[in-house]
Amino acid sequence: MANDCIFCRIAAGEIPCFKVYEDELVLAYLDINPFSEGHTLVIPKAHSAGLLDTDDATLAALLSRVKKVAAHIKEALPCDGFNILQNNGEAAGQTVRHIHFHIIPRRNGDPLAFSNSPGDMERLKALAQRIGFAQ
Ligand code: AMP
Ligand code: ZN
Repeated sequence: MANDCIFCRIAAGEIPCFKVYEDELVLAYLDINPFSEGHTLVIPKAHSAGLLDTDDATLAALLSRVKKVAAHIKEALPCDGFNILQNNGEAAGQTVRHIHFHIIPRRNGDPLAFSNSPGDMERLKALAQRIGFAQ
């Protein structure tokens, strides 16, 4: 456990949370600054900072719990859909350096939105050639 990590302290029961689900490996609780009603965070109890720092076995287990919790929330709230968000690094908006998946419940017609615009096909082609890789 990292003593200065707020999510480690929540996992250890030192700081309270609004718990949604818990098992030996993960804890899920409501985000205290929700994007939407039912916005839930799923964390591994063991500390790691982000996706690239987390071992594959932990990630696999974590994602299975994200699925389990999301399925439950979809029925229990209910909601029409949900976004999964997982921020890595300050540039991506990560504020807590303990890996977590956001489950953000969505309702038909709600105002939450990511905005995008059509890409330039030549630039997309060149980019895929530059960053594409096999295996
Ligand atoms: P991120 O920006 O992906 O690092 O998300 C961190 C999230 O943790 C934010 O949405 C915060 O609202 C949430 N958060 C921070 N402290 C707490 C806490 N004590 N209990 C629940 N959620 C928290
Ligand atoms: Zn931690």
